[in-house]
Amino acid sequence: MDKKDLLRKLPKIDEFLKESVVVEDLKNTSRTLITNSIRTSIDYYRKNILNDSIKDFNKEDILNLYKSILINSKGTNFKKVINGTGVVIHTNLGRSILSNEAIENVTKVSENYSNLEYDLKLGKRGSRYSHIEELITKITGGEAAMVVNNNAAAVMLALNTLCEDKEAIVSRGQLVEIGGSFRVPDVMKFSRASLIEVGTTNRTHLYDYENNINENTGVLLKVHTSNFKIMGFTEDVQLEELVELGEKHKIPVMEDIGSGTLVDFSKYGFTYEPTVQSSLRKGTDVVTFSGDKMLGGPQAGIIVGKKSYVDKMKKNQLTRALRIDKMTLAALEGTLKSYIEEEEAIKKIPTLNMILTDKEIHKKRAQRLKRRLKNHVDDFTFKVEGDYSMVGGGSMPTERIETYVVKAFSDKISPEKIEKKLRLSENPIVVRVSNNEVILDLRTLFDKDFDIIVKEFEKLLK
Ligand SMILES: *Cc1c(COP(=O)(O)O)cnc(C)c1O
Repeated sequence: MDKKDLLRKLPKIDEFLKESVVVEDLKNTSRTLITNSIRTSIDYYRKNILNDSIKDFNKEDILNLYKSILINSKGTNFKKVINGTGVVIHTNLGRSILSNEAIENVTKVSENYSNLEYDLKLGKRGSRYSHIEELITKITGGEAAMVVNNNAAAVMLALNTLCEDKEAIVSRGQLVEIGGSFRVPDVMKFSRASLIEVGTTNRTHLYDYENNINENTGVLLKVHTSNFKIMGFTEDVQLEELVELGEKHKIPVMEDIGSGTLVDFSKYGFTYEPTVQSSLRKGTDVVTFSGDKMLGGPQAGIIVGKKSYVDKMKKNQLTRALRIDKMTLAALEGTLKSYIEEEEAIKKIPTLNMILTDKEIHKKRAQRLKRRLKNHVDDFTFKVEGDYSMVGGGSMPTERIETYVVKAFSDKISPEKIEKKLRLSENPIVVRVSNNEVILDLRTLFDKDFDIIVKEFEKLLK
């Protein structure tokens, strides 16, 4: 057929709208979305007829294209990703996955009205912080607590409240940058506290703090250097000593503990990480930490400590700008409830569960995934091997968790191409590539996603 005939054969939008498939779509999809999809598919055909790429077509072809464009335009940009990297708290992939309890609480308060700022007992205005303050103090042993948007906001609010136009003394070895560009010196600048750096990168002594204390000192700050470790000739002031010094000079001691571990992981064979409870027990006046790292909840910043300080923070004008939204609050409450019993927390909170699951369980799962892949995907070699997962999120940087992975290799397609195709597929899968092999770590994969993984591998060579 020549071009003119082909162009004439292209349907008009009005005709297209009468097709039974389209009529069906019109029942539950906006007309604009549908006509846009029709126009895009007709335009595609017109352009390719004109440049001779399309020599013939039938109505079905255009309808199929229309359908896939429509499905795509109905989808969201922000979507589910399958994490095969073995990095449990993957900052780029949304950090912690929420527990069912957290998700149920979010659904409940967002599909209904809620008592967000309403005191049901008194029948008048209440505080959004009241819903979880008691829960946080009960779990951590602190006197008072409040929550804001994230830990960066928590540090800023705490410093601004305790130390505006005053000096905050901090060890040079703790002036760290944490993933997602949280830089301690910059956050301090925004909080209007002036930074007094003491000691050296590898060694700071108690006298370094004491020698710099004056009538304008607002806070003694300790920052947990989450994502790196200084080895060798080092010396750091113990929290107990800092607290003693603070008490002697009546200056509050604040610790930005970062990950906010509420469970002592050394019980499970990991290197000891300071817990929020231990920091408070040692007498720290204010502790701040993230909700979506080791805690395993939503993005949030939690502040816990002496009531007099926390009360001041609640009244700080900055709080209004940093305030936590109701969905986050609901997710945080749902997560924290599980911590009343540590065993519950480990069972129900995905982040804890993923970090602590024994490698032998992943070995069996890896064998199962490999079998499924082998049975469905030709021209690939699959094997199960031992490897290491990471905690991620700047937490436990030196910890390598033993795991099992499925490695995939093919003569017909390079590992870089596989990685790219899986990442761009209908069901994005993020994998690691190492030594010319594609690696899927079972620690961060769910059994429910095995079918999808097999399906996307089947499409790789098509
Ligand atoms: C992660 C981290 C932060 C930033 O926390 P966000 O919740 O990501 O804002 C601040 N301080 C430390 C020590 C951290 O580890």
